[in-house]
Amino acid sequence: MKPVIALVGRPNVGKSTLFNRLTRSRDALVADLPGLTRDRHYGEGRVGERPFLVIDTGGFEPVAKEGIMHEMAKQTKQAVAEADAVIFIVDGRQGMTPHDKTITDFLRKSGRPVLLVVNKAEGMKYTSVTADFYELGMGDPYVISAAHGDGVMDLVDEALNIAEQHAPQQDEPVEPDQKGIRIAIVGRPNVGKSTLVNTLLGENRVIAFDMPGTTRDSIEIPFERDGKHYTLIDTAGIRRRGKVFEAIEKFSVVKTLQSISEANVVILLLDAQQDISEQDAHIAGFILESGRALVVGINKWDGLESDQRDAIKMDIERKLSFLFFAKFHFISALQATGIAQLMKSVDSAYAAAMAKLATPKLTRALEEAVEHQQPKRRGSIRPKLRYAHQGGQNPPIVVIHGNALEAIDPGYKRYLEKHFRDTFSLVGTPLRIEFRSSK
Ligand code: GDP
Ligand code: GDP
Repeated sequence: MKPVIALVGRPNVGKSTLFNRLTRSRDALVADLPGLTRDRHYGEGRVGERPFLVIDTGGFEPVAKEGIMHEMAKQTKQAVAEADAVIFIVDGRQGMTPHDKTITDFLRKSGRPVLLVVNKAEGMKYTSVTADFYELGMGDPYVISAAHGDGVMDLVDEALNIAEQHAPQQDEPVEPDQKGIRIAIVGRPNVGKSTLVNTLLGENRVIAFDMPGTTRDSIEIPFERDGKHYTLIDTAGIRRRGKVFEAIEKFSVVKTLQSISEANVVILLLDAQQDISEQDAHIAGFILESGRALVVGINKWDGLESDQRDAIKMDIERKLSFLFFAKFHFISALQATGIAQLMKSVDSAYAAAMAKLATPKLTRALEEAVEHQQPKRRGSIRPKLRYAHQGGQNPPIVVIHGNALEAIDPGYKRYLEKHFRDTFSLVGTPLRIEFRSSK
């Protein structure tokens, strides 16, 4: 399970700047597709081989009792409750403010490990920029410049060391053939996730599973269906928490992200009796960024008039067009209709996600694509695509080698993606294209 790091601090201390620096490299992997809504407060970062989740919290005014500041404080509390380590940012140019003290008190009560970080310290002496902040009683502050990158890597390394001590232990990786396809069911509250879980498990043989212990916060429920093995990833209650965190919401982005990242195939549930919301689109965006295989279930299809059905279909087409690669199923978790087809798509999405694409076949497909349509020149430069090999599974990654590939425009990249998709019948999984130029 990826460690979770929350960025906390007053408005304008540089949280977003640090967040962008930590997640930027990830972002570049995902094309900006029309309609794709991303939640800019949650991102994945990576230092070397270590991936982590990072949460950017809005400006924290802990004293606000109502209104938007109160809402932001609530969200900050939730983020801290879910974090394995907190990076508490203060502004080295402005110096200490009373709010910094209030935040310190809150963080201390949270019991979470906290790293105090003085930002905007470029060109300043350690002793002078930190002097103010010893008063907070959080030990020697880290000093960084989020804007320039100074000190950021050391900070993240240390945050990860601390977070990993604090994070629940990861289970031994399971052999896929033993426990089968790992499925996460995600969606906003009340779309019918628990109902679908019960229907799936009620109809099928549940193999004995461990109840959640204290050291892990997701449970795995193996089950069998038509002789095939599956494992349902179910995120249990949030880690043990102190009194400060009583107001935790039913819906947790972190839990959603964790279960997505532990799954092979994600079932995104939507509610046919409601409009597609911003939250649906955010969750869809997370799945797309994760690269996991996807099947969409439009639940509560029972008892709808045909004009209502048409309306929701149009709504989906308009708002979730970037999920074009996935299969959509109209189901009723309550009445257990459409489940067999849904599960069939889970199987085929998994097969596509795990497809083995041989180098000669990929290269032939690449040649066909180029023959049919050449990449555009940029100035006097014409990109040259030479050969392709597979760089990974779940999602499949096609690595294309050649020259001047950085000059390839996003439209051509999408064209290549579609060509590989069609050639290898990859339905239900995102597909990533990466370019490696030899000069
Ligand atoms: P947030 O409200 O805490 O998310 O703060 P932002 O990331 O939006 O940054 C607030 C302002 O501080 C912006 O104008 C940033 O450009 C600036 N800023 C952020 N990091 C640094 C830094 O390392 N050095 C300097 N000089 N300015 C910074
Ligand atoms: P969750 O919050 O996503 O786990 O949603 P629940 O499974 O708790 O379901 C929320 C509500 O929707 C409950 O009242 C369910 O009975 C209802 N519900 C779930 N699935 C269906 C369905 O297929 N059809 C209808 N009509 N109601 C459903």
